[in-house]
Amino acid sequence: MLLLRGHYRLSEAVLVGWRRVRGLMIPVPVVTAAPAVQLVSLSKVYGSGPTAVTALDRVSIELAKGSFTAVMGPSGSGKSTLLHCAAGLDRPTSGSVVLGGIELSVLPEAARTRIRRERVGVVFQAYNLLASLTVEQNIGLPLRLADRRVDRAWLHQVVTAVGLADRLVDRPSQLSGGQQQRVAIARALVTRPDAVFADEPTGALDTGTGRQVLRLLRDLVDATGQTVLLVTHDPVAAAFADRVVFLADGRLAGSLDGPSPELIAERMAHLGAW
Ligand code: ADP
Repeated sequence: MLLLRGHYRLSEAVLVGWRRVRGLMIPVPVVTAAPAVQLVSLSKVYGSGPTAVTALDRVSIELAKGSFTAVMGPSGSGKSTLLHCAAGLDRPTSGSVVLGGIELSVLPEAARTRIRRERVGVVFQAYNLLASLTVEQNIGLPLRLADRRVDRAWLHQVVTAVGLADRLVDRPSQLSGGQQQRVAIARALVTRPDAVFADEPTGALDTGTGRQVLRLLRDLVDATGQTVLLVTHDPVAAAFADRVVFLADGRLAGSLDGPSPELIAERMAHLGAW
């Protein structure tokens, strides 16, 4: 007989099935892996009255654990708003964000900040490193803010993965743009987040360096099962993802699985982006 005991983490969906035991039907829990991130009917309206702007209109997306998803759409289609809401940096007007089984939207500000620090990694176009701190201190900052101890073994794994093991005592100004973005990615990974959200992470980099950063994100997904959401307007960047989700005027406008840059560009042209 199947016997499951103990507690189930919130992040695991517990379904109840039925099993016949000595002629009796008894309920049995069936544990399935919940998605890393669920965005459910997310809407965001800026302002009110006649000048209100609907930046997101009932968008639902699921990010499976260990998946790499790109969000594309014309300028103003709501990509950054989606990322900010998903990462807990902004509150949706309605709908919910469920992160590792925890519903963010209903949490008070302090709890949302804590969850964001501990369970979300964010990478921006502008790196946002602190110039006065070393590479190692920048990477460890989210742990210090969360009052958590540095797991040396994990830190070593992360800095090795991003190729910065020999630059730990340098300051950001001593690094190239690509290296600075690698520091930002390591900083996003150091808390072992449920998901990494990257907003145009290659926007300030030359093409070759940008590709290396995208390759790094791809490798992290493949090697460690990290879940990544990438916002980009570049079809080549989006083609690194497993799935590309399109937005137009704040609404979901379809998706493509494992597409080529050409197919993505074609879909974008249909959306009127170019
Ligand atoms: P994208 O990232 O696809 O370019 P955004 O999410 O930045 O799109 O913006 C979506 C829409 O919301 C746009 O019309 C934009 O002008 C509007 N918007 C974004 N942020 C704000 C804000 N803070 N206040 C008012 N309108 C905003």
